[in-house]
Amino acid sequence: MTDITKEKLYAGVIVDLRVDAVDKVFQYGIPDNMTHLDIGHRVLVPFGSRRIEGYVINKSPHLTIDPSRVRNILRILDPEPIILPSLVELGIWMSKHYVGLLSEALQFMLPPGYRYGRERVGAKTQQVVRLLESDPTLPRNAAAQKRVVNVLKEHKTLLASELVRLAQTSHSTLRRLEQKGILVIENEEIERSIDWDVIPCQSFVLSPEQENACRVIAQESSSTRKPVLIHGVTGSGKTEVYLQAIKETLAQGKRSIVLVPEIALTPQTVSRFGSRFGDRISVFHSGLSEGERFDQWWRIFRGEVDVVIGARSAVFAPVQNLGLIVIDEEHEGTYKQEEGSIRYHTRTVAEKRAELVGATVVLGSATPSVESYHEAVQGRYRLVEMRNRVENRPLPSVEIVDMRQEFEKKNRSMFSESLATALRDLVEHEEQAIILINRRGFASFVLCRECGYVLQCPNCQVSLTYHKADGKLHCHYCPHREDLPLTCPKCASRYLRQFGVGTEQVQAQIQKEFPQIRSLRLDADTTRRKGAHRRILGQFRSGEAHVLIGTQMVAKGHDFPNVTLVGVLSADLSLNFPDIRASERTFQLLTQVAGRCGRGDKPGHVIIQCYEPSHFAIQSVRSHDYASFYRQEISFRRMLQYPPFRCLTRILCSGPEEMVRDFSSVIYGFLLDKGIPKKDILGPSAAPIGKIKGRYRWQLIVKSDKVLSDILQELPPAPGDVYVSVDIDPLFLL
Ligand code: ADP
Ligand code: ZN
Ligand code: ZN
Repeated sequence: MTDITKEKLYAGVIVDLRVDAVDKVFQYGIPDNMTHLDIGHRVLVPFGSRRIEGYVINKSPHLTIDPSRVRNILRILDPEPIILPSLVELGIWMSKHYVGLLSEALQFMLPPGYRYGRERVGAKTQQVVRLLESDPTLPRNAAAQKRVVNVLKEHKTLLASELVRLAQTSHSTLRRLEQKGILVIENEEIERSIDWDVIPCQSFVLSPEQENACRVIAQESSSTRKPVLIHGVTGSGKTEVYLQAIKETLAQGKRSIVLVPEIALTPQTVSRFGSRFGDRISVFHSGLSEGERFDQWWRIFRGEVDVVIGARSAVFAPVQNLGLIVIDEEHEGTYKQEEGSIRYHTRTVAEKRAELVGATVVLGSATPSVESYHEAVQGRYRLVEMRNRVENRPLPSVEIVDMRQEFEKKNRSMFSESLATALRDLVEHEEQAIILINRRGFASFVLCRECGYVLQCPNCQVSLTYHKADGKLHCHYCPHREDLPLTCPKCASRYLRQFGVGTEQVQAQIQKEFPQIRSLRLDADTTRRKGAHRRILGQFRSGEAHVLIGTQMVAKGHDFPNVTLVGVLSADLSLNFPDIRASERTFQLLTQVAGRCGRGDKPGHVIIQCYEPSHFAIQSVRSHDYASFYRQEISFRRMLQYPPFRCLTRILCSGPEEMVRDFSSVIYGFLLDKGIPKKDILGPSAAPIGKIKGRYRWQLIVKSDKVLSDILQELPPAPGDVYVSVDIDPLFLL
């Protein structure tokens, strides 16, 4: 009998070159002194005439290449495997499912700053000086050296920079003394600490709905581990449920990851976790420097952290013993990675990771994505409904204002009478308001100000977009183009207008019409600088302004007790966004922003200005009726065979115009060869944004019953300068 443990193993290594052609697993021999080599280890290997880095992703006795060509691993680069084995497995799955590079998938799992061929951030160190000889003999004229020794005698050890300052000298003096053996300069690692000002938060007596939610999560964790979808109205206390679930998880010796949309990752959110779990938490967000993230990554890796809170990428945090992944605001579009070769959805990845390690996924939202709710209706997710706000606070009242009528009444202001009156009252009552300017993506569709008609594509049920370049209206889903009409096709009015107002304009208008109102602006412009986002929210919280004006950013997650009014300008702007999820996004955004008011003791009121008040997405916001929204939306999806009924895949080619057009036809032919019916392929056609940075973009959108990953692994290779990206379950089709 052969002793299986003695069998020679070969290491499968993915080299870190990030080129399509080498995104392949190469086998290397494991020298005798490296028997401890394991999956996830970072190694140095010979590659052609070079030596490069790679990651071990498997060990196998089966050699797939000619034995005489096997070369050995040169060196193991870290004492321990740097990628957890379960994350290696997740990476392999992702590269297959999303038809992307494995080296890129593994990149997500590495410490921030670990990147082949690039400067590493590494640990932060500081130089410390220690005195070795307390009474050295020094030359009479060495005054600076004497000063250094005297200062050091007082302090024993000092930061080099501090010592230089106190002794009024330079680093070269220190080095001279070190050469003489009088002192020693050492590098000491320090951690870049992050302050997440911990505001104490009390623990509450759970409401019956909260208790029920906790019970369901506990049940699932100890049985089939279905993902739990918490559909809870804004202010129903979902966060409290997450906190309880984390506590339970900890009690079983397991750790948690909490994912939150980047913009909801405010100090307030973090402090709610910090006040419960102290310094056993870690936070990942884009406001941290790469060095800070590096340090947090290592804290997690070393097991010093029980709860990781972060945006999308935290789903890959190196948490061992993972028991729970929470995805708050699970409907958010920012959970989708929109760059690179692996365009993953965090929810999908979280589910896979949980499945691999036996953890439970909890999804929460006041407005679940149609996909997730459908899963729940189908019984794949366990559904928990939380219908009431905590302490029986009422949901805000919602008023819909038809701006066509305002126009008729000769009100040319951007504020309806209702909103204007409410704004004036605000100052009197010393309350606060949030004004949302709904401007998703590029808001350049054409609307008739008199009847509200939006110019639409005859074939696609999406609005047409005005393109400055050729002065025509384009459809983003098919090749249809037409001239801009002079009058409205429906009512013949001449008031056709391109739509889209900016926050700045609104602020100026408020200053003009309501000089007594102080306002703050929260948008991409005002939050560009580090810390600005936090500062503006802080100012608003402390009452420095009556009104917070902003884009989507103001809609999410905030808890300002003094906000009693929410105003939405051009609410249906996003309904006309050329996107199959336009209704869903509009409903979500409006419900979320409405949920920002009436969270304290005073009830809230919402005024939604729009041109299409009868649209079901708007009507469902008024009645706080998710179920009714869902029913109508899902029947629309069923009718058009959109997700969740069928999968969408987008194949985008970019490069020189002619090559891109030709190659997208090649792909079209390939898809037909694979048996995909013509009617399920939209395109090839120019992408809605037809050119970016001088590269032309053509796309095909494919509908299918199953995910197309397997077929697309075999896509014909793209010629020279053409880049092909595959997006499985795309959220945006621009
Ligand atoms: P959601 O995330 O569902 O919008 P939150 O978790 O933010 O709701 O809770 C809304 C507010 O209610 C928060 O200020 C929170 O501190 C408070 N809260 C949560 N649970 C309770 C409870 N059981 N009793 C009293 N207040 C609670
Ligand atoms: Zn069309
Ligand atoms: Zn009209």
